[in-house]
Amino acid sequence: MSVTTRFAPSPTGALHLGHAWSAVQAHVRARDVGGRFLLRIEDIDGTRSRPEHVAGILADLDWLGLDWDGDVVFQSARLDRYTAALDRLRVMGLVYPCTCTRADIAAAASAPHGPAGVVYPGTCRERAADLSQPHCWRLDMAAAIAAAGPLVWTDEIAGTIAADPASHGDVVLARKDAPSSYHLSVTVDDAAQGITHIVRGRDLFEATHVHRLLQALLGLPTPIYRHHPLLAGADGTRLAKRHGAPSLANLRAAGMDGRALAMDLKRGRLPLGFGVLDD
Ligand code: GLU
Ligand code: ZN
Repeated sequence: MSVTTRFAPSPTGALHLGHAWSAVQAHVRARDVGGRFLLRIEDIDGTRSRPEHVAGILADLDWLGLDWDGDVVFQSARLDRYTAALDRLRVMGLVYPCTCTRADIAAAASAPHGPAGVVYPGTCRERAADLSQPHCWRLDMAAAIAAAGPLVWTDEIAGTIAADPASHGDVVLARKDAPSSYHLSVTVDDAAQGITHIVRGRDLFEATHVHRLLQALLGLPTPIYRHHPLLAGADGTRLAKRHGAPSLANLRAAGMDGRALAMDLKRGRLPLGFGVLDD
């Protein structure tokens, strides 16, 4: 089986070592077996995505020596595909408009927490929303699960996983300010680009339950997944920009050899002060 992987960063900030770690693993997973490695820029968030971050991502990958196949795909150029997928789910009666504000949702009594924070309490599910108001489109999770039936997916590290998206609640598939959401666009694009193996961090493991469900509803193939452990900093907590992880641009400016870094990461050798999160 030929292998196609991808690196799919959001250009909302500078890449840090955790991104390099993820990109290297996706690159290696494909190239070690003569497969293809693609680059997709996830820029549907028009307010937070910045062209200078796109330029930074390309420069970082070049510095690391991680070459990709074909053209860079930009999600902002593919919005009609996401709209078409949403239309299909609408025809199936599995999505509904929601006019709630963040404050409405927070104020709704006993909103439970799911893998991605507060779960939407379903306020708009049974009411006719005023479509002249700003609205998003939500998946009717219970109806979608019933329509799809039992589903599984395979993770190269975690094994066979029964899809269990219920705890996410009625996730947003098209945002108030964008004709798609992360869940919908990533599912549509991974299929459109023929991704056979999705290599990404464990932080996205829970989201895969939703993606597997969307694949079933939209008649899309299910790739094999590989959710890799995340990097931790010296304090043992997950690397993130807000914890002051140095950006790849900083390391580059400081004269570090990017290709040597990528080679080390490929062999599981981490720079001093970094470790792999057990979780
Ligand atoms: N764009 C997402 C991010 O930067 C990653 C999407 C994915 O790998 O599925 O976190
Ligand atoms: Zn609502």
